[in-house]
Amino acid sequence: MIKSSILADFFKLVAAFVIVWAVFTLVADYIPGFSNVEFKKSSESLGISIENEERIGDLILEMYLADKTIVSNTTLDSGLLVIYNRLMEGLEESKYEIKFYVVESEMVNAMTFPGGNVVINTSLIEFSDSPEEFAAVVAHEIGHTELRHVIDRMAAEVGMTVLVSLITGGDATVIHEAIGAFISNAFSRSQESEADLFGMELLERSHIDPKSIGQFFERLNESNLGFGERLELLMSHPHNNSRLESSLQYQIEEGFSSRPLPLDWNRIKASL
Ligand SMILES: [Zn+2]
Repeated sequence: MIKSSILADFFKLVAAFVIVWAVFTLVADYIPGFSNVEFKKSSESLGISIENEERIGDLILEMYLADKTIVSNTTLDSGLLVIYNRLMEGLEESKYEIKFYVVESEMVNAMTFPGGNVVINTSLIEFSDSPEEFAAVVAHEIGHTELRHVIDRMAAEVGMTVLVSLITGGDATVIHEAIGAFISNAFSRSQESEADLFGMELLERSHIDPKSIGQFFERLNESNLGFGERLELLMSHPHNNSRLESSLQYQIEEGFSSRPLPLDWNRIKASL
């Protein structure tokens, strides 16, 4: 009798546990902030201000650009300014001062450094079929900045101690290591999807067809260029395919009208 009552108590305990667990699981979805518990700390919770991010970004960018050839000429600069202004019109309000830098590189890529610094490789301009396709890639990069993916990734790669030392000036070795860690790692898949969505919404508000990003991915997939090690945009083919799919599924608001970017794209390419 004693044994069976212990057993009964045990089962009651298990049942109570299961009920509590089930209720908690069901209810958790309705408690704000409970269903999507953020395990990964974001820059907001780490307390890195935009000013400090800009400080880190400038420091890193300066060293990154030191051994690169910056490309600048009137045709290119004025063309990029047209695209920049159009995207800023769509962005309306930014936490950052977004800046473009064009560097000579055979890698089809654009990379966003902390603080809103977008580094564009010449090959990306050459590979883009139209200024709209190019703007689509840049809009995606701006998404990584505005959504604070860039500084979050940096914090995850180098850790808070290094970030704090970068804010206060850092030494050359620390900056160098931070660059290495930053450029050899990619954004997560969810960050890519978020930046894609941000980019398409930004394009739409800028009167540029959001499907331009899909066209870019489509050609990229066909080009076999997608396997470079640091190609943040290029990732893997399946990944590109799912991104291509989401861009095809993107619902453009009714009444959307596109305004072509008034640029001679071939002339801009020829100026590189
Ligand atoms: Zn990206």
